[in-house]
Amino acid sequence: MDADVVIVGAGPTGLLLAGDLAEAGVTVTVLERRTEESNVTRAFAVHARTMEELDIRGVAGELARTGTPIRELNLFDRVRIDLSTLPSDFASLLITPQYQTERVLQQRADALGVRIVRGAEVTGLTQDGSGDGGVDVTVCTAQGPVATYRASYVIGADGVNSAVRRALGLPFPGRSVIKSIMLADVRLSEPPADVLAVNAVGDAFAFVAPFGDGWYRIFAWNRRHQVDDKAPVDLEEIREVTRRALGTDFGMHDPRWLSRFHSDERQVPRYRVGRVFLAGDAAHCHSPAGGQGMNTGMQDAANLGWKLAAAVHGWGGESLLDSYHQERYPVGRQVLHSSGAILRLALIRPGWGRKARNIVGQILMAIPPVAAAAAGTISGIGIRYPAPPGADRRVGTRMPNIPVTGGRLHDALRGGRFVLVGSRAPTVDLPAQVDAAVPVRPTGELLLVRPDGYLAWAGTAAEFPAWANRYFAGSSRPVEHPSTTE
Ligand SMILES: Cc1cc2nc3c(=O)[nH]c(=O)nc-3n(C[C@H](O)[C@H](O)[C@H](O)COP(=O)(O)OP(=O)(O)OC[C@H]3O[C@@H](n4cnc5c(N)ncnc54)[C@H](O)[C@@H]3O)c2cc1C
Repeated sequence: MDADVVIVGAGPTGLLLAGDLAEAGVTVTVLERRTEESNVTRAFAVHARTMEELDIRGVAGELARTGTPIRELNLFDRVRIDLSTLPSDFASLLITPQYQTERVLQQRADALGVRIVRGAEVTGLTQDGSGDGGVDVTVCTAQGPVATYRASYVIGADGVNSAVRRALGLPFPGRSVIKSIMLADVRLSEPPADVLAVNAVGDAFAFVAPFGDGWYRIFAWNRRHQVDDKAPVDLEEIREVTRRALGTDFGMHDPRWLSRFHSDERQVPRYRVGRVFLAGDAAHCHSPAGGQGMNTGMQDAANLGWKLAAAVHGWGGESLLDSYHQERYPVGRQVLHSSGAILRLALIRPGWGRKARNIVGQILMAIPPVAAAAAGTISGIGIRYPAPPGADRRVGTRMPNIPVTGGRLHDALRGGRFVLVGSRAPTVDLPAQVDAAVPVRPTGELLLVRPDGYLAWAGTAAEFPAWANRYFAGSSRPVEHPSTTE
């Protein structure tokens, strides 16, 4: 074996996963087609749940220093989603360029000893499930010769045109939802008063958000001028569309990046085929509305990392590996629906339709449970995984960052281990995978928190040993799967 795990793609998904695996003592090689690190600002919004995951890894503070937090989203005309009431240490949306997120994750991966091979384009793979089984990944380097890497598990984190997904023969069903969206990163001589400005009027849609360093991201869409992605982008057209949608072009000038893209809604039907897993854009893609793509990919990685590490270390069985698809596929589905809904609402054409949308939106956001649900959905704070039959109903929910002796729960989770929280935790025999933390305000019950911050189990000290024996014994039987090749 060249490594326990090979990850294809050093985007945000692949980098977070690589760091998690290395931290768990798993040898990992990342194969990346690009020869240089990315300086592209595709994603610019990091949501609260992603910040919590980064906090568990000790890098949230560093990323927060690169951007601007937004505490309220102003959608359409005065439909406000208040993020400041989220039950999180990160009750906001962080606006920062994707390259900053990648830089922070790359530094973490480097510090943990991840091997990243650049200029390595994956063109196919073959997997065998018998005996000790493994996956052979075929690589075409920039110099030409073909190399093969063998690993126990392979992750396709290689983006929307995933070669790994193709090699698995998986379809990517869905459709194109919006074409010819213009994008510009510019300076503004008259920036908007609201941190975030977004509106659509008639055939024009525009969105403006600050990066916090003097640069602004503009999206503009012109229903009257729909052209191919490769058609040149003219800043004058972006100015004109922004004026129609928002009443002003904010004096935009000096673009550092102009681009045009289209947006699809697609999701792969299976996130796992034998020893190969798909994560991030390779598994799902959707409209940029709601700023969910990168966030969902990083949270896929947070869900998968500790499960793969468990399999490599011999205690995580087939059902734990399968739970990656069972937990993350529905989240991807939900993101497709929510980002699609925001986009369709934004682009409603008739004036009466937009008025109705705005009035209904304002009424709904005035109802506290509806407003809380909207903030929970968009921020990822509301994500929960299904509890197994017979389990405490809280199993699968996100564990808040409660104060524990010596710090906070997120500090205790650093290192990628389970944490047993409870007043009597130290008196229980702990499995090798588990650390203990004593809450500042003990409740008398035990809560076992997974490395990704979700609740694995809740119960009494008397119940814990039998449950833990079953859970951490797992099964190390080999993965059986037919060969896959391209
Ligand atoms: C204009 C725009 C704005 C966006 N805004 C947001 C936002 O605000 N918030 C948000 O959450 N998301 C946003 N997104 C989506 C976000 O950019 C993606 O969801 C995110 O980059 C996905 O990360 P990833 O790591 O899964 O894939 P990618 O970032 O695409 O990374 C995949 C990596 O794999 C490499 N690769 C590809 N093929 C191969 C191969 N065959 N062999 C080896 N390496 C390969 C690529 O070079 C790349 O480095 C936006 C997208 C766009 C286009």
